[in-house]
Amino acid sequence: MKARIAVLGGDGIGPEVIAEGLRCLEAIGSSFGHEFALTHLPFGGAAIDACGDPLPESTLHACLTADAVLLGAIGGPKWSAPDAKVRPEQGLLRLRKELGVYANLRPVKLHSCLIGASTIKPEVLEGVDLVFVRELTGGIYFGEKKRDALSAVDVCTYTVTEVERITRVAARLAQQRRRKLTSIDKSNVLETSRLWREVATRVRSAEFPDVALDHMLVDAAAMHLIRRPRDFDVLVTENMFGDILTDEASMLAGSLGLLPSASLGDGKRGLYEPIHGSAPDIAGRGIANPVGTIMSIAMLLRHSLELTREAETLEVAVSRALEGGARTPDIAMSGERALTTREMGDAVLGALSRVG
Ligand code: NAD
Repeated sequence: MKARIAVLGGDGIGPEVIAEGLRCLEAIGSSFGHEFALTHLPFGGAAIDACGDPLPESTLHACLTADAVLLGAIGGPKWSAPDAKVRPEQGLLRLRKELGVYANLRPVKLHSCLIGASTIKPEVLEGVDLVFVRELTGGIYFGEKKRDALSAVDVCTYTVTEVERITRVAARLAQQRRRKLTSIDKSNVLETSRLWREVATRVRSAEFPDVALDHMLVDAAAMHLIRRPRDFDVLVTENMFGDILTDEASMLAGSLGLLPSASLGDGKRGLYEPIHGSAPDIAGRGIANPVGTIMSIAMLLRHSLELTREAETLEVAVSRALEGGARTPDIAMSGERALTTREMGDAVLGALSRVG
């Protein structure tokens, strides 16, 4: 097949992890006979530096006409001054909105060989396999913002339609898995959460009677996630709660650097990115973990290009590389030799050549 992929390296470790992801994508293309036409585009802080806009119109246009968009990460201290008028994050929020990718899927699955890499006890982690479905284009991140000398306001809004469609995505996913859906809100305090709970309950009983739905307050969910993570299957929640809880959940897998994500709308086009940020503390040192990006490419192959066998091949190669002992510093235990970003890419490519 032929596919057009818009590539946004972004800032900090973004371009470093994307480089390794693209080597894996090329290897998949050549072993399965696909042609992936890549267009590299400025985005985030790098685009602010180049032309004053974190999402230049030419970048947006290329993303809207591509089959899929692959993103590294954006942001960093250079563009984060409190009085900054233009921020990299504005570009990311606008891109998600323009692409209409309202459902952000974040799978968290433990590679059993990494059980010691987490700070959480192995007996709590054994068998963890869950997916977060985070609402991505609504809520407080997109509400009106106001600021004066003495106060600041961020408005949080959700509509019935927004909650209905994200509940459907999550319930469909639960149907393909263990049929267990947990909806997370703060309905004891927030009106948007009371709407969320009502709508999720109605959609589940009208359309997904085979899926078991339970509701959990976000504060309790933060605790249960590390107390009994194995009990969760699919979790659905609003934009900000999902943002925070998935960073917490990354420790179930061992590192933020391991987790991929797919942001999907109603069509096949999606935006794929690791869940981590630009990691300014390690940028430029060649030690970032590229696994979250490589696994995001597997999600791209599966969801946007419907190349299931290719996606599985890449996922198996990542597992084999990890089982073979490949470790970047974030997942290396004491005494283990840590690989560079490039060497981790080499390890996955080596495993790919044996799997494929
Ligand atoms: P971060 O996710 O960049 O980093 C948090 C910690 O995790 C750091 O110690 C970092 O070194 C580590 N880490 C992250 N990715 C890693 C990887 N692949 N391998 C090894 N270690 C990794 O979060 P932050 O430091 O709070 O934010 C830095 C910048 O990133 C900010 O400007 C923020 O706005 C931005 N950000 C962007 C995105 C995105 O592009 N989607 C997401 C989150 C944060």
